[in-house]
Amino acid sequence: MTTDFSSDKFQFVVENYREICYNIQNAKVKYGRESENVEIMAVTKTVAPEIVNAAIDCGVTLLGENRVQEYTAKKDFYRPCDVHFIGHLQTNKVKYIINDVKMIQSVDSVKLAGEISRLAVKNGKVMDILIEVNIGDELSKSGVDKRVALPLISEISCLPGVRVRGLMAIPPIGSRDEIYLKLKDLFENIKSEDIPGVSMDILSVGMSGDYEMAVKYGSNLVRIGTKLFGARKYMEV
Ligand SMILES: *Cc1c(COP(=O)(O)O)cnc(C)c1O
Repeated sequence: MTTDFSSDKFQFVVENYREICYNIQNAKVKYGRESENVEIMAVTKTVAPEIVNAAIDCGVTLLGENRVQEYTAKKDFYRPCDVHFIGHLQTNKVKYIINDVKMIQSVDSVKLAGEISRLAVKNGKVMDILIEVNIGDELSKSGVDKRVALPLISEISCLPGVRVRGLMAIPPIGSRDEIYLKLKDLFENIKSEDIPGVSMDILSVGMSGDYEMAVKYGSNLVRIGTKLFGARKYMEV
């Protein structure tokens, strides 16, 4: 049975998605990136599965999950869609997501990468990962120091069953251009190292408040929650 998702109930998701696509297209034109692809991820934390499904119906092809427990409770209710894990991930929880997500964007230690590697090999797969960089040097944020990114990627590149695809970052709210430029430079520098087994083709930066700025500085994957689904209903933990 198909529920009538086209009903007005979730019309706001359709309109929000349209507006985001329109703004990204404009930003691409404005910053000379028309020919490049910028993927839109729908960040689902606190959002009910039927509303997430409304986004998938609009054309969203990628979901972002922050919490293992919330994801495992919701995943069976989602329509078929690619999923990336984007939240802080404890080593002992990798086992709950290893067979369901296509990418883990929040890798910030050899220990975590090692566990992903171990379980990927055990399950006969290669897991794509991004290295999360604390580009604003914020004490409260996860992610590695930008100076550690390259050595960390070199070390992880030797592990079987994981493939580094690029970087992920959450710039501090209200960051100026230089922070985004710093991230872009770091990304380009690591890419130019041509580390065997490391592809550096994904720069995941930009959320509801800064996705146009992120497009300006080379993002090709923006992670949108609030602007797509509205303000989150309950406190984040
Ligand atoms: C919540 C979250 C987002 C989306 O944030 P919005 O400001 O609601 O768009 C993106 N990335 C990560 C890692 C998040 O935790």
